Amino acid sequence: MCPAPADREAERARLVDYMARRGIHDDAVLAAMQLVPRELFVPPELAEFAYRDTALPIEAGQTISQPYVVALMIQALELRTADRVLEIGTGSGYAAAVLGRVAGEVYTVERLAELAGMARERLAELGYDNIEVRHGDGHAGWPEHAPYDGIVVAAAAGEVPEQLRLQLAVGGRLVIPVGAAFAPHELLRIRRTRPDEFRVEKLGEVRFVPLLPGHTDTTD
Ligand code: SAH
Repeated sequence: MCPAPADREAERARLVDYMARRGIHDDAVLAAMQLVPRELFVPPELAEFAYRDTALPIEAGQTISQPYVVALMIQALELRTADRVLEIGTGSGYAAAVLGRVAGEVYTVERLAELAGMARERLAELGYDNIEVRHGDGHAGWPEHAPYDGIVVAAAAGEVPEQLRLQLAVGGRLVIPVGAAFAPHELLRIRRTRPDEFRVEKLGEVRFVPLLPGHTDTTD
């Protein structure tokens, strides 16, 4: 059985403390993680594990990312409250919800229709009114809302998709795991310093599910 909401809040606080001890220092990110109920973003039978710092399986054979990695990536985006963000790989919608508490507007693209539909519904029910979910291929970004102050990719790419770089505002940051499928991936932060200049920083090693190739399973 799931513990009562008050217990979950205490569990969440312990997880946030643990994040801070592991080096997450952006107060806005920590505050957002204290607010978002991760237990509502995992399948009900896994809700008891929601505050362990691990990835968990979700529907359609996908995963909800490890909380520490979500915090690390969002911190790396260096967001301010009015910023516009694009996420590729909505999955459960958890990271989008955290982004929604840190930034002004969030656009998130998910390739699998089932997941896009579930996340859209869940985020609406929970009252996140600054997040839009789209079913589509993330390689193309979401040009209608570009340029973005931050873009975060929740699946590993063989190389950085060109469209994502081009949809960054000047000064914008793209955080993306890059590497061969199933190998360890390098987390990169790419900063668009001028219209035609991009600076790349390596932020460390991570492991992600692969970014699926560029067609969607069905169309909306
Ligand atoms: N941010 C998510 C993590 C999801 S895991 C969360 O907090 O739960 C990565 C997600 O990327 C999966 O849901 C997967 O279906 C999606 N994905 C994979 N390839 C994609 C692509 N080309 N375009 C958009 N989404 C993609």
